Amino acid sequence: MFEERDKAIEEIATRLGVRAERGKRFAELTSLRVGGAIDWVIAPETEEQAAAIVYELDQAGIGWRPLGSGSNVLADDSDHHYVVLNLSNMKGAVHIDGEHVSVSAGYSLPRLCIDVARGGLSGIEGLGGIPGTVGGALWMNAGAYGHEIGTVTEKVRVARDGKVVEVLGESIQWNYRHTSFREGELLLGATLRLTPDDPEHIKARMDEAKSKRLATQPHGSRSAGCFFKNPPASTVGTGKMIDEMGMKGQRRGSAVVSPVHANFIVTEGENARAEDALALAEEIRERVRREQGIELEYEVELWRAEPQMNADNADQTGKEE
Ligand SMILES: Cc1cc2nc3c(=O)[nH]c(=O)nc-3n(C[C@H](O)[C@H](O)[C@H](O)COP(=O)(O)OP(=O)(O)OC[C@H]3O[C@@H](n4cnc5c(N)ncnc54)[C@H](O)[C@@H]3O)c2cc1C
Repeated sequence: MFEERDKAIEEIATRLGVRAERGKRFAELTSLRVGGAIDWVIAPETEEQAAAIVYELDQAGIGWRPLGSGSNVLADDSDHHYVVLNLSNMKGAVHIDGEHVSVSAGYSLPRLCIDVARGGLSGIEGLGGIPGTVGGALWMNAGAYGHEIGTVTEKVRVARDGKVVEVLGESIQWNYRHTSFREGELLLGATLRLTPDDPEHIKARMDEAKSKRLATQPHGSRSAGCFFKNPPASTVGTGKMIDEMGMKGQRRGSAVVSPVHANFIVTEGENARAEDALALAEEIRERVRREQGIELEYEVELWRAEPQMNADNADQTGKEE
């Protein structure tokens, strides 16, 4: 059924000199360690390669989705018949020019926070404990402890018509864990504008944020961070709300509400299932709806296996949920 498509993918990957692999599962590529088989994983190493690949895939009508470290994605257990563009190899090098820091989308966000802190640049030290890539952080407008990446983003490099194109940070809407980047837009890298400060002071603030995180969140567990957003109209955070309903430690098969932080769902065991995490999440939503009259929105992205999805109809990825 996918013979022609597979040939086209092999031909594109070979021509552009990019690694294309079969037989991978989301369980290997996401921090929740669940999720089904992926038809193809393509891993570009440079921004130019990535821009060229998605152009070629679009031209051939082949569906794809970008993935960084998979620390905010819950992919379902079925077979996913599309290409996953794994960007975690597209690391490049960090270029620091005064207050301007240019970095590729596949670079690790925690690593970048350490690099710039050492270089005496402040503005992202609160983000030091957020796992994942710079690209994933830009896509979600990742934030913690008073910092959000969008606030310091001067320019973003995106893929357009096979080329690397720069867009201004101020032309993008940076909302709470949501941005105005459109589905099917591939982020290749960014230039941040940071503020000079004493490296010791920056490090002290980064350490403080890390200690707070260690004290309040599970570590060493398989999670995707906060599962739900905090409701805008509520004075109580989602974690506290779930905790007050007595749901810490609640289990559905291989998925558990973390006993440390109730807005974290963690998975356990070798054959953990996305289905369990999703059922537990829906149980939480149902109880919050019934008992608090609040509709919880997912912060984690739900990736459903849809047959032969195209980038054009990729708005079902869960970003709007
Ligand atoms: C223990 C833990 C703690 C966390 N704490 C926080 C926190 O404090 N604050 C916070 O904001 N988040 C937090 N998170 C969630 C997560 O780490 C962030 O959202 C992170 O920025 C996701 O990066 P990623 O590379 O893993 O993205 P992925 O999970 O791989 O992808 C997330 C989304 O971004 C898209 N994407 C990724 N790269 C690109 C790209 N180059 N171009 C276009 N789209 C792309 C994907 O398609 C997907 O839609 C936490 C997660 C964990 C596991």
